[in-house]
Formats: sequence, structure tokens, C-alpha cells
Amino acid sequence: MPPLQGPVIIVGAGPVGLTLALALHVRGIPVVVLEQRPDLPKDLRATTLQPAVLELLDALGVLERLQSRAHRVDRVRWYDGDRPVRIADYGLLIDATTHPYRLHVSQWELCAVLLEHLPPGTVYWDRRAVGFETIDDRVAVTLDDRTRLYGSWLVGSDGVGSTVRTLAGIPVDTGATHAYGSFSAGPSLADHLPHGADCAYFHEGAAWTLVMRMHDSFRVLFGLPEGAPAASVVRGDWRQHIVGPARTAPLPDATGHRAFVLQSRLAHTFRRGRVLLAGDAAHTTFAAGGNALNTGLLDAGLLARALHADEPDLVYAYGRERPRALEAAVLGTGPWTPHEGVPWNEAIQPRELLLGISLLAA
Ligand SMILES: Cc1cc2nc3c(=O)[nH]c(=O)nc-3n(C[C@H](O)[C@H](O)[C@H](O)COP(=O)(O)OP(=O)(O)OC[C@H]3O[C@@H](n4cnc5c(N)ncnc54)[C@H](O)[C@@H]3O)c2cc1C
Repeated sequence: MPPLQGPVIIVGAGPVGLTLALALHVRGIPVVVLEQRPDLPKDLRATTLQPAVLELLDALGVLERLQSRAHRVDRVRWYDGDRPVRIADYGLLIDATTHPYRLHVSQWELCAVLLEHLPPGTVYWDRRAVGFETIDDRVAVTLDDRTRLYGSWLVGSDGVGSTVRTLAGIPVDTGATHAYGSFSAGPSLADHLPHGADCAYFHEGAAWTLVMRMHDSFRVLFGLPEGAPAASVVRGDWRQHIVGPARTAPLPDATGHRAFVLQSRLAHTFRRGRVLLAGDAAHTTFAAGGNALNTGLLDAGLLARALHADEPDLVYAYGRERPRALEAAVLGTGPWTPHEGVPWNEAIQPRELLLGISLLAA
């Protein structure tokens, strides 16, 4: 590939854009990130980092710092009512990964750590990308103040409603929609949980609740039945949707109640000309196991490697083949897919299940 004509321009300083920026920076590739917000949001979103992503973050030199803000989990447990029905032990993956465990850490803490490792000035805050034009082997990006920035590639990691994807005219397939509620609970929730349940799914019929121990708190995530009003999560009657110990635990310090919807979506291609897509801009999926976030972070690692190599074929292959590789994980057609309803399907061996949810199977 000819020498890069200017920096790689990334739109979106979410976890995927920042991971890509760092993965390019450590390879000596100049990079600029445009972010429409004035700074990092500290909202409650994804919280799980799976082994394949831990390998990537370790290679980028940020894992140690992140671990001080995270809770390490070695086992996932499932309960049918109060009855323990299944344990999947990440130790089963000892021969498949250098990091056979998962970390629970807030998505915004990951972003904060990534930002600490980037040179100051990498992110242009308060700048919204509104257009682009390809000129020979360069791309010119227009910002909302009408200034233009020239780069070698434009990467849209600008989230679900991606402006970059829309402007590039890349179509998207859509799949199932999942509705969720979530909140944070203080450490006292531990007194009401079965021993060792620091990552536990509680099921009753179609209802499910996932309890995740964080560094100094818990995050509770639960499925919302179709048509449940979002207000029922925010207004104090959220307990009707919860199963397992969190339903009756006092939880005086529960905060941050929120309802949200994730729809499975997959872009037809992750490249058009000199424009590339990564993360939610390219695909979104269900929240279980951190699938939505983790698949995006892995895009960033793969894309950085492709851009660093001097083979355009690798960048083209990313654009063409990454959507196919993600199809099962994103659209939920894999046999192991941890769809909230099927976790203890006995036909799936624990190792196969873990390889799937750890994103090591693809
Ligand atoms: C409430 C909630 C809970 C969630 N819970 C989970 C979960 O439990 N597990 C899970 O796996 N996933 C979860 N997700 C999804 C997860 O948060 C996303 O997969 C993840 O944020 C994707 O990262 P990203 O960097 O691709 O996009 P984003 O985090 O959306 O970042 C995109 C960034 O681009 C910026 N931007 C957009 N347009 C422009 C523009 N034109 N110019 C400049 N900047 C722009 C935005 O301001 C934003 O900062 C949740 C999402 C929500 C909303």
C-alpha cells in the first residue's frame, strides 16, 4: 500500500473508536478522533469484557490499569428460580486463551483508560462530522463548523445512528429486538445472593435477571416483556420485572434505573471506497455477555491490523468478510448464542457455550 496520505480519521470517541485510535497509535499510524460530545459520558451501558477482548486490551497495554477498576469473574451461574442449574467455568478455556476469565467494568471506565493512553489532542471534542468526499486516495471530512480535515481513511465508529454509514449509503439488515431494564445496586446486594453468584442469571419462565458484581457495586440487567412501558423501570415499580434475589432484596442504594432497546442489525459491508465501519455503526446485537460491545472492540483490533499491513487486500477483506464472520454472533443464529432464554440447554456443553460467549469460537 502507498504511504498513508494523512491520518486515519475516526468519527466517534466511544469504546470502539478509542480502541481503534490506540491500536493505530501504538503501531505508529497517525490518527484523529472526532467526537460530537464535549467529553466522555459516564452513563451505565455495557459492563462485560470477554477473553478475546482482554487479549486485545493486554496487547495495547491498558489491561493492568483497567483491572484496578474491574471485578474478575471466573464462573457464570444459572438458576431456575432458586435452583442452581448450570455453571460454566472459564477455566475450561485455559488452552484457548491467555485470559480465561471475564472482567466486569463499566464501559465509560474503559473509555477513560483508553483516553489516558492516547496522546493529548488525539480527540477533537465538540466536533461533529457532517459530510465527506473522496479525492483520489484521500478522504476529506467536513465538520459542522464547515472546516475540512484530510485523511487516508475515514472510519465510522459513530454508533447505531451512524452518519458515516448513512452518507456512505451502506444498507443494513435488521433482526430481533430485545428490550431491557437495568440499574446499579450497592454492595449490600451480596448479602442476598447465593454464595459465589457474582455473575448469575436467574430465570423464571420467560423472565430473566442477570446480576453482575462490579468493582464496588452490582449491575442488574433484566429482560422487559414486549410492550412494557419504559416508565415502569424508571418509576420504582421495576421489581415486577425482576426474578431472583434482587426482586425482594431491600436495595436502598439502587440508582441509575433505565430502560433501553437493542435491535440486531448488520451492515452489508464494512467498507465502501475509503470509508470503513466498526462497532455499533456496523452492527448491533443483544446485550447478554457484552456481545454488542465486545464484537465492536474486536472490529477495532482487526481493523488496526489490516490498516497497518501494507496489503490493501487486508482492508478490503475486513470490509467484505467481517460481516459474514459476525453473522451468527450478531443475528443470534449460533448454537451457543446466550439468548436470554436458553442458557442451560443441556445439548450445549459448557466449553462450547463459553467459547461462544467469549467470542473465541468465530
Ligand atoms: C443503556 C444501554 C445499555 C447497554 N448495555 C449493554 C450491555 O449490557 N452489553 C452490551 O454488550 N452492550 C450494551 N449496550 C450497547 C453498547 O453500549 C454499545 O455496543 C457500545 O457503546 C458500542 O460502542 P461504539 O463505540 O461502537 O458506539 P458508541 O458507544 O455509541 O459511540 C459512538 C460515539 O460517536 C459519537 N458520534 C456519533 N455521530 C457523530 C458524528 N457525526 N460526529 C462525531 N461524533 C459522533 C457519539 O457521540 C458517541 O460518542 C448498551 C447500550 C445502551 C444504550
